[in-house]
Amino acid sequence: MNENLIKARELLEHSAPLGRLDCGKLCSGLCCKGDDNTGMWLFPGEEELYKNNPNFTIKETDGNFGYNMIICNGTCNRSERPLACRIYPFYPKIDGEKISVIKDLRGISSCPILKEEMKPDLKFLRNMRKATRYLIRDEETKNYILNMQQEIEDIAKLMSVFR
Ligand code: SF4
Ligand code: SF4
Repeated sequence: MNENLIKARELLEHSAPLGRLDCGKLCSGLCCKGDDNTGMWLFPGEEELYKNNPNFTIKETDGNFGYNMIICNGTCNRSERPLACRIYPFYPKIDGEKISVIKDLRGISSCPILKEEMKPDLKFLRNMRKATRYLIRDEETKNYILNMQQEIEDIAKLMSVFR
């Protein structure tokens, strides 16, 4: 079991992008309205946590750098949410020793927090950075984050071209 992953998940269990405001109320819970082919991309090692959980289905996907995704049934116990749900619509940015938080531009056309440029909660940002420090202790997870970070930066570049 990846203890750093567990620690990161714990840090983000009780913080949310807009603090006490339930952002799901802004969009009628858009994030949780997936279907049988739309799921949350798992971080390295996270699949283990869902193997015997009847509330989630593990599925292969092409887009997650070789890792699987999970599908939920649209409601969940907060403590069971995958890391992808805990950090969305933001993502860690690793720049040498510096850790920051960037917008996850994959959600730019759907998530009101991004579309309306809402300010994230400070405690959430702090916990994102702390959680990332745990995650990157594992080299495989660090590489995974760097790959995804690159994908988000590519979207940013494309957006600037079409602006
Ligand atoms: S993260 Fe964005 S899309 Fe998801 S529930 Fe919150 S406001 Fe809605
Ligand atoms: S795991 Fe929970 S928070 Fe994540 S999409 Fe499913 S219902 Fe929503």
